[in-house]
Amino acid sequence: MSFDRSAVMNLAEKYESFYLYEESGILESIEQLRRNFEGVRFLYSAKANPHPGVIKCILSEGIGVDAASLREVMMGRENGLGKRDIYYSAPGKNLHDIDAALEECVIIADSVNEVVRIQSLAASHGIVAEIGIRINPNFTFDGDVGFANKFGIDEDTVFNCIDEWRSMKNIKIIGIHVHSRSQELDGALIAGYYAKMFELSCRFQEALGTELEFVNMGSGIGIPYAESDKPVDLAFLGGEMTRLINLYRGRLNNTQILVETGRFLVGKAGVYVTHVLDKKVSHGKTFVLLSNTLNGFARPSIAQMVESYTDAEKPANSEPMYTGRGAFGFVPLVDSEETQTVTVTGNLCTGTDVIVKDITLPELDCGDVFVITNAGSYAAVLSPMQFASLTPPVQIFLKTDGSTVIR
Ligand SMILES: *Cc1c(COP(=O)(O)O)cnc(C)c1O
Repeated sequence: MSFDRSAVMNLAEKYESFYLYEESGILESIEQLRRNFEGVRFLYSAKANPHPGVIKCILSEGIGVDAASLREVMMGRENGLGKRDIYYSAPGKNLHDIDAALEECVIIADSVNEVVRIQSLAASHGIVAEIGIRINPNFTFDGDVGFANKFGIDEDTVFNCIDEWRSMKNIKIIGIHVHSRSQELDGALIAGYYAKMFELSCRFQEALGTELEFVNMGSGIGIPYAESDKPVDLAFLGGEMTRLINLYRGRLNNTQILVETGRFLVGKAGVYVTHVLDKKVSHGKTFVLLSNTLNGFARPSIAQMVESYTDAEKPANSEPMYTGRGAFGFVPLVDSEETQTVTVTGNLCTGTDVIVKDITLPELDCGDVFVITNAGSYAAVLSPMQFASLTPPVQIFLKTDGSTVIR
C-alpha cells in the first residue's frame, strides 16, 4: 500500500514527527477480507492501533472488537457497539476490570481461577454472565502437540473442568477462543489451523451439551513487511474457510465464526514521518540524525538491535516487537539525483537509536522529510515516548474526504 505523498509533505510543514494513518488504506483492507471471506465476522484487535479515528472507521464498518483491556472494551461501547460485538480476552485480568466488564462485553475466561472469579462476581450482581473460554490447544500452526503457555487453559484441563463449569449458576459458556500465532503468511498453515479449530469446537460443544454461539479463531493472517514477503493468499484461505463452514454446518448450526485481526487492517495503512535534524561525518562515516526515532517509533531501532546480535538470515520473530529483516521501508522525500551511503540514527542521548547502518539513499540534507513505512500497527503504542521528555510525535488520521483527526 502506498501513502499520500502530498498529504505527508503538507503535514510535514507543520509537524516535526508524526504518524499518518490513511482511512483509504484501512477501508481497502476491510474490503479485501469481505471479498474473500463469507459467513465470518471479523474482530479488530484494538491494541494494534487504538487511535480514535482508526477505531471509529473500523467499527463503523461492522467489525467487532477484540479487546485486550477494559479500556478497549469501553472504546467499543463508546462507538455504539453492543456487548455481543466485543470480546475481552487477556491473561491476568484484575477483579475490578472483570467486574466493570461483566455487562459490557463477552468476557473470555483465561484461566481456571478466572472462571471462578467471573462466577462469583456475576453472582454478586445477580446475573448470568455469558462467557467464552480461551483454550491452549493440543495443536499448533506447525502440526505439533501444543506447548506450555501463559495464555488460556490447557485443552486437557478444559475437558476435565467442563462439568464443574456447567454446574455454575451464574455463568453460561457460549463460546471458545484460541489465538495461537500472529503474522503468518502461509495460507495453508492458517487453513490447517482453522480445520483443527472446527474439530476442537465440535468436541467442546459435545462436552458442553449446549450449542456454541461463537468460535473465535484468533488471528494469524499476516502482512508483507519485507519486499520479499508474499501476502497471504486470501482467496485460497477464504475458500478453505467456506469449505469448513459448509462441512461442519450440521454440527455447528448456529455458531458464529469470528476471526481476529489487528495488523492486517492497519499495519500497511500507516507511515511514520520525521525530519533530518542534523548530518555529520565521524571517522569517515556519514551520520544522518532524525527526530524522534527510537522514542517515536521503536520497532526499526529494536530490529537494528536484534539483528546486531546475530548473523542468522531469519532471526526468530518476537511479535509484536520484532518481525524480521527488512520489515520497514525507508523513503526520503527528496528530489536529489545523488545518492550517499549513510547511517541513520535518532536524536536521543543514547547510541541505541540507530535505524539503519550503511544504507545507500538519495542524498539527505538538514530539514528533509524522511518516511518509514509499515507504521500503522504496533508502532505508536509500542514506543517509549516519554524518554528524554522530548516532544512526542502526533498521530494523524486522514479521512477519504481529506479531513483529519489529530491526537
Ligand atoms: C494481539 C492479538 C491479536 C492481533 O494479532 P495481529 O497479528 O495484529 O492480527 C489477535 N488476537 C489476540 C488474542 C491478540 O492478543
